[in-house]
Amino acid sequence: MQKSATDNIEAIRHKLNAGEAFSIEDGLFLYESADIHTVGELANELRERKHGRNAYYNINLHINYTNFCVLRCKFCSFYRPFPKSNAERATNGYELTINDIVARAKHAYSRGATEVHIVGGLHPKLPFSYYTEMCAAIREVCPHMHIKAFTAIEIIHFSRITKPRMSVREVLTALKDAGLGSLPGGGAEIFDERVHEETFKTKVGETEWFEVHRTAHQLGIFTNATMLYGHVETQAERISHLAKLRAHQAESLKNCPAHFNCVIPLSFVPDGSALSDIKEPTGLDDLRTLALSRLMCDNIPHIKAFWIMQSPKLAQVALDWGVDDLDGTVVYYDITKRDGANTHQELTVDELKRMIHEAGCTPIERDTLYRKVVRGEGSWRIDGADWLVEYITD
Ligand code: SF4
Repeated sequence: MQKSATDNIEAIRHKLNAGEAFSIEDGLFLYESADIHTVGELANELRERKHGRNAYYNINLHINYTNFCVLRCKFCSFYRPFPKSNAERATNGYELTINDIVARAKHAYSRGATEVHIVGGLHPKLPFSYYTEMCAAIREVCPHMHIKAFTAIEIIHFSRITKPRMSVREVLTALKDAGLGSLPGGGAEIFDERVHEETFKTKVGETEWFEVHRTAHQLGIFTNATMLYGHVETQAERISHLAKLRAHQAESLKNCPAHFNCVIPLSFVPDGSALSDIKEPTGLDDLRTLALSRLMCDNIPHIKAFWIMQSPKLAQVALDWGVDDLDGTVVYYDITKRDGANTHQELTVDELKRMIHEAGCTPIERDTLYRKVVRGEGSWRIDGADWLVEYITD
């Protein structure tokens, strides 16, 4: 006899209470048939079990060091082809010098930022030393600033440009030695061959993405994981993506000194991309996907609504839908610009706290690794640390 929708919900609720992982079928059922409020309620239950009503944010700065890229992913509105002449390079795209990058990081650090988040296109000419020197130079002037940098595809690009060729492990080790703290989660897109073939076939797929994150976890480097949803993928492909993240996390938790800290579902912004005719996800699709991410990835501690992708208003609502983290102040972000925004995209700490308070949560400032940040008058430290960073407060 076929189960009714109510029976299914009760079975899912039972699994949640028993701490059992959801199956692909459970996830699909919740995507397709259960009412949106029940999905939110279930996700919130798991969120509160893990974090109570705490909601996390950080004070960070994003730096996109170049938008030149050798690839042409269809969903990307950020990349520019690398022009042949210097004159064209000056007007069509950009690449930052190490001095530029360090100056930006230093400015943020001197005003209390705890993290710099650095990603960019796959530049055809910059040598691997550019990336190690970048990390070392930031580390020298901002000794306690966490450097979260380079997606899995960038790490593979670095491995390809080195001569003699360095392995992924050697690349990660060299970056770690230079000051890299952790990896962001970008480049995962959707783990599915059909979607890969259709939208980013020249970019590495899930095998290589997981290899980079597996190696990072083995080396003690924590990472995050994204899912870019709302383009050509199906709901089943989203659920399968989340289940693959959960399976990988189970391996890392068992065998490695590091693991995924956070899942970041990224709502596709079609404007300016080769897929601009696709309609972006609706608010309810965003909420359902964030909630399903919480429910399917029950062994990954945090679910982030990156406010630039879901919008601050939706991200705030999502704090009741399984989300416990809003990312941070950001300041500059070039990769996605929603609703005519320019590169300057910033929320102040007061704005982040207001969003969190109004959602009935307690704002907790965290560092990149989700340790509590303790602030004094013009100083911060990680809870329990024996050092202190002083900064300008004007
Ligand atoms: S998504 Fe990344 S790899 Fe793909 S074109 Fe854009 S910058 Fe290049």
